Amino acid sequence: MPSIYIETFGCQMNEADSRYIAERAASAGYRIAEAVEDANVVVLNTCTVRESAERRAYGRMNHFKALKTADPGVRLVVTGCLAEQERDAMRRRAPHVDAVFGTRELALLGDRLADWAQESALDVLAERDRRDSMLRFALGGSADGVTDAFSHLRAFVTVQRGCSYYCTFCIVPHVRGRFDHRPQRAIVDEARARIAKGAREIMLVGQTVNAWRDPAGGADFGDLCKTVANEPGLERLTFISPHPKDFTHKALDDLAGIPQLNSRIHLPLQSASDALLRRMNRKYTLSQFDCVVDAIKSKMPGTAITTDIIVGFPGETEDDFEATLSYVRGGVFANAYTFIYSMRQGTPAARWEQVSHEVAHDRFVRLVDAQNEVTRRYHDCKVGRVVRALIAGDSKKDATRLTAKTTDNVTIVAPKPPDWASRNGVQGHPYAPTPWLDIAIESAHVWGCAGAVVARAERFADAGAPVKQPVVDLI
Ligand code: SF4
Repeated sequence: MPSIYIETFGCQMNEADSRYIAERAASAGYRIAEAVEDANVVVLNTCTVRESAERRAYGRMNHFKALKTADPGVRLVVTGCLAEQERDAMRRRAPHVDAVFGTRELALLGDRLADWAQESALDVLAERDRRDSMLRFALGGSADGVTDAFSHLRAFVTVQRGCSYYCTFCIVPHVRGRFDHRPQRAIVDEARARIAKGAREIMLVGQTVNAWRDPAGGADFGDLCKTVANEPGLERLTFISPHPKDFTHKALDDLAGIPQLNSRIHLPLQSASDALLRRMNRKYTLSQFDCVVDAIKSKMPGTAITTDIIVGFPGETEDDFEATLSYVRGGVFANAYTFIYSMRQGTPAARWEQVSHEVAHDRFVRLVDAQNEVTRRYHDCKVGRVVRALIAGDSKKDATRLTAKTTDNVTIVAPKPPDWASRNGVQGHPYAPTPWLDIAIESAHVWGCAGAVVARAERFADAGAPVKQPVVDLI
């Protein structure tokens, strides 16, 4: 059986695309490889939103050259935003890449995988123990989110591709094109199919997800969420990333009426300076953003709001930055993804006078410190409580621990209970049928919380059955 390894950079849109590729590959007869050196086909799903992601993608392509040298039968495929934007340059810079597919060519990529699976050479290669251990050591890395025993529990459903808003820093509309909304029927059918395959949580994904409109009937995002939530068996619903300007009172009322809605909304602010928001072409002012925050808090009490913030955007003055810093210190956000502005050729902001790296870095550190304090306080409130969280898998840092995510998207780490056993098939893990964990929180950190698993449940609404505790050796 041929095998495929998929490595993903960037946003949830790319993660959703990687899962689609994995599913097309599986239906064409591929096994998902957990290590790149075990694969016949290696897919790199790239991102170009930041320069660092672009550099890392080219770095990985160069790394993978060793695979091709050791075994010319291996196919290396690049997809994602960088593939869309740099198709020609990539052929020059990485001539060992076998195929490049843009973000709108995933179906073609699926067809090509099926063709390759037919070729007998792959079957021959699959039987051979063909890569030496030095290669395994040299390549490193891990595939994201498509192989583990629990990834089917949290399903991404793409509702829309592209974006028509043209924020002046953003490459997405240039690379992925303008809005292309999927029909409601296709979205609901996919959600239903995911639930039938064991999904407990559906994440609706779009670059500006709440701008979605049904191309035929005109239903809006609130209507869509209500319809998906009505699917029998759906336990939790979430979405990413909404645009602040597209949250109407009607949409928020619709969301507030959905019992399965997760208690976290990601609301990208980018800057709290009106002057910068204008230069960024964000289409809202700080006070309009604040109105959305207030509406979320009053209609959905207890909902955590998280955000994205850019520092060092061209023209950002100390006063602009102080406005952002002070807003963050006000404690609005449970968490924030903070970035130093990354110049993207082809966007308007790339032509403007840049803030020096030293100044941007200094502001970045101050902003991260401020948000970390707020985030830590948010996590502190969970200490001493038992929280319910959906299992995510092994802790990346410590194989004796597991990780889980609460409905407000906080990472929880806990020692694996004694009845945790090794994997037995992709969905055969003993915790896969009872993936909701009750975890007694013992400590809070900036990254999340740590605790002990005390119970587990099959359904979100079920009471948890106690989990056997480890025997403590006092001698
Ligand atoms: S809303 Fe702005 S930041 Fe978001 S994808 Fe569209 S152009 Fe990019």
